[in-house]
Amino acid sequence: MNIDILTLFPEMFDGVFSHSIIKRAKEKGLAGIRLFNIRDWSVNKHKTVDDAPFGGGAGMVMMIDPIARCIEELKSTTTYDEIIYMSPDGQMLDQAMANKLSMSRNLLVLCGHYKGIDERIREHFITLEISIGDYVLSGGELAAAVLADAVVRLLPGVLNDETSALSDSFQDNLLSPPVYTRPYDFRGWKVPDILLSGNDKEISGWKLEQSIQRTKLRRPGLLDK
Ligand code: SAH
Repeated sequence: MNIDILTLFPEMFDGVFSHSIIKRAKEKGLAGIRLFNIRDWSVNKHKTVDDAPFGGGAGMVMMIDPIARCIEELKSTTTYDEIIYMSPDGQMLDQAMANKLSMSRNLLVLCGHYKGIDERIREHFITLEISIGDYVLSGGELAAAVLADAVVRLLPGVLNDETSALSDSFQDNLLSPPVYTRPYDFRGWKVPDILLSGNDKEISGWKLEQSIQRTKLRRPGLLDK
């Protein structure tokens, strides 16, 4: 899968994409992530990418022209499954959406900044708008990184143990059971004995029970799904 990210701050992605799971996915050739600086598509003298809002009000708005040119150029060579705009008023990102997007070949992700982007971009180019939560970030970059991570880790072959994404929270609308590792006894705080019993059937039963209890307690809404 390939993810093309359009941003005014490509450097913001350096750390996130050069470590851990995403790094491994790139090295294995399972995911490609290309960063495009929207400023490179600005044709005015000062390479301006934002302007004051029509009708007044605080803050600057990202101009339509550079974004439109950039998207059009990329679309001329790549067919996108979705052209996504990260936005606090978008559809809320959840595991089901991540699962669905992980089946795409090409995604384009547009990051806004300042007061956001000229509305006409949303009307004429964007096919999906995604929010990562009901709070406002300074830019879409962190949100796009969250989306990329959630999607890329689902690609077959990215995680070492392929079943491990399946046992994560929200798959099957259940939260994960608690997990433990050595030592068995830390200051008298012991690991539940059943996990050391060697009885796989009882262990899976315990894990499922814990998952259900935890979901009832912390995310009861998931059980209705
Ligand atoms: N004025 C806008 C917020 C702009 S924040 C409003 O009130 O709706 C600047 C940019 O950050 C946005 O264009 C968007 O790309 C990104 N952003 C902010 N919060 C976000 C969130 N919760 N999810 C996804 N993107 C977000």
